[in-house]
Amino acid sequence: VNQEDLVIIGGGLAGCEAAWQGLKRGMKVLMYEMRPQKTTAAHQTGDLAELVCSNSLKSMSEGSAPAQLKADMASFDSLILRAAHQAKVPAGQALAVDRKEFSGFIQEALFSHDNFRLCHEEVTSLPSFDELEASNRCVIVATGPLTSDGLCRDLEGLSGGAGRLFFYDAIAPILVSDSIDESKCFRADRYGKGEGDDYLNIPLTKFEYEQFIDDILQAEKSPLHAFEQTSYFEACLPVEVMIERGRETLRFGPMKPVGLTDPKTGKWPYAVIQLRLENTQGSMLSMVGFQTKMKWPEQKRVFSSLPALRDVEFYRYGSVHRNTYVEGPKVLNPDLSFKVNPRIFLAGQITGVEGYVESASMGLLAGHTAASKVKGVGFPLPPSTSMLGALLHYVTHGCHGKYAPMNANLGLLPQVIRGKGVSKADKKIKQCQLANRDFQDYRQQLQL
Ligand SMILES: Cc1cc2nc3c(=O)[nH]c(=O)nc-3n(C[C@H](O)[C@H](O)[C@H](O)COP(=O)(O)OP(=O)(O)OC[C@H]3O[C@@H](n4cnc5c(N)ncnc54)[C@H](O)[C@@H]3O)c2cc1C
Repeated sequence: VNQEDLVIIGGGLAGCEAAWQGLKRGMKVLMYEMRPQKTTAAHQTGDLAELVCSNSLKSMSEGSAPAQLKADMASFDSLILRAAHQAKVPAGQALAVDRKEFSGFIQEALFSHDNFRLCHEEVTSLPSFDELEASNRCVIVATGPLTSDGLCRDLEGLSGGAGRLFFYDAIAPILVSDSIDESKCFRADRYGKGEGDDYLNIPLTKFEYEQFIDDILQAEKSPLHAFEQTSYFEACLPVEVMIERGRETLRFGPMKPVGLTDPKTGKWPYAVIQLRLENTQGSMLSMVGFQTKMKWPEQKRVFSSLPALRDVEFYRYGSVHRNTYVEGPKVLNPDLSFKVNPRIFLAGQITGVEGYVESASMGLLAGHTAASKVKGVGFPLPPSTSMLGALLHYVTHGCHGKYAPMNANLGLLPQVIRGKGVSKADKKIKQCQLANRDFQDYRQQLQL
């Protein structure tokens, strides 16, 4: 007879963090992990919390979003962070780890707990709400970007059908708005529709366009993994793939200038890059239709060759890769449970966050919200003005534009007005200090 209160599917970063937080709340936890019997296209071992690619858990420097997120998680005694500090290797401002030691620490912490049980099995179906309610149990699905096909059908059902469970990321870069030279852009909507000035447009001359196309063609791209080479890309092609179909393709696609009159010339430019608001504060602007496989330093190099973007900073770089995730704002409650079955919670990358730490942070929260449901108590959520709360708010409430997975970045936090003599670095530090203050207030009031 299963005695467990909490069933966690997926022993990755999010699943392990959720298990740890659940155990700390007195839950009995059963975890299902399909590896090594059945593996994914990216994992190499049967270990829990395997880092599939880089060994870096991003920056630790003051005034950075990843560092602030880690600080929030540390105040919950995050297992992932404990392990990272234990397995740390020198990497400057980054928190990088020895991946074997990292997984080993996490496994030992979980296995040494009397209330933890691991079952190496693929889960292919999810229990109904009535079954879970009758036994007062909750399930956390933390199966990650490479969720097995066997489970996707049930997840699609919980998500309201096809179209709300995605299998690919095709992400356009998001830029820091005050790093753009607006004097070299113009505001306009196509044919004056909308509010008339919703888009910030970067005009390109024929010469600039040709140079830009050459730059993109020559830029180094991230290689596609074998498991990513499918026709799914047709729906949302990376810019470099479009260019391979012809140098003019972008000018008839995302860089189409028709209906966009540049007030400086009174004419439509040869080509444009359109920037669209990502948040209501106007601090984040996405490059419309610019999903790309160019490597991150190459994106910086290629885009900053345009005068308007000479000093451009990025909140998120563009990418295209295999990724299973749901359209969180449509299918999830604010506590990460499914609207159609509030005893099943989602955690990790599949919620619509990107990255190891971000995924673990959604595991941390799901561990608490699910444990609180089992205990029949409420769990106050972190304020959206804190980094952890802002990320949660993003995946459960969305953004201004088209919903796409998000990493931790300062554009999600309230903006700080930069006065005279306040550097960009000072502004970032101030933003993090305010976020930290709000998180600490919340944390102090939270009685666990
Ligand atoms: C190729 C690739 C490279 C990446 N590189 C980076 C990087 O360099 N840096 C970075 O920050 N992020 C990177 N990511 C993203 C990173 O994988 C995630 O952010 C992170 O691992 C997500 O954590 P998670 O717990 O949500 O999923 P995972 O860590 O993937 O864990 C999910 C677990 O669920 C298991 N599982 C899946 N389906 C089932 C099932 N039906 N039943 C039982 N178990 C199941 C899987 O075996 C896996 O162990 C990369 C992703 C991919 C695919």
